[in-house]
Amino acid sequence: MHPGRGARATTVAAVLLAALTAGCAAVTPTWTPRTASSTPAPPASPSPTPSTTPTPSPLAMVAARIPYGPERREQMADYSLRRYGERSADLMPHAIVVHFTESPDDPWVTINFFAGNQPNAGTLPGVCTHFLIDKVGTIYDLVATDTRCRHAVGLNHVALGIEVVQSTEGHSSHWADDQILARQPQMDALIALIGQLQQQFSIPTDRVQGHGTADTDPEFKDLTGMRNDHTDIGPDAVAEIRRRLEATP
Ligand SMILES: [Zn+2]
Repeated sequence: MHPGRGARATTVAAVLLAALTAGCAAVTPTWTPRTASSTPAPPASPSPTPSTTPTPSPLAMVAARIPYGPERREQMADYSLRRYGERSADLMPHAIVVHFTESPDDPWVTINFFAGNQPNAGTLPGVCTHFLIDKVGTIYDLVATDTRCRHAVGLNHVALGIEVVQSTEGHSSHWADDQILARQPQMDALIALIGQLQQQFSIPTDRVQGHGTADTDPEFKDLTGMRNDHTDIGPDAVAEIRRRLEATP
């Protein structure tokens, strides 16, 4: 999510840090996650006609939907009007932005933070992501893919967000990117998830971005003139992720 050079990154990190140091680093949800509506249900009856083309199995995910009720949707719609000139919280994904969390390893620390809907840079809604992948490759489903999340300046109106659990631990964000690229279970899950979303929404590989390359996307737009000041998942990591996507059948 949020390592960067600017004050906004500091603000988000400070909020998360404050939550952690205040003893809120719960290892279990602080709310009751709703069952993901996108979790495929088993077919009601067998298909009457056997298919020769096997349908790929949807990826297993942990249902961890964060509260995203009418109030947060209104906040997202207002944000969209200011930034993109259209008042909507609905999403039809054209792109994917990959981030890393700059957080402890426990995925619920980050999920709880997103669930809290804390103001970012003084405005609501709080930041969030559609999916989160922990270090052992478990995928968490946080927000429906038809709903906008605030995760990358300029692309929230068109892009799904994927957060990968990783901290810079005092190193550069490039170092953190490399830790992710070398962590096989997490990368396998990331490539599989991106591949599934690409297929589901016809998203080309050159529209798979990192937060550090978001400004270069052809649909980047921000009416307030803002640009991303975050460097998580930079150009080298994006190139490697795209290479692995292209190499995956
Ligand atoms: Zn980010």
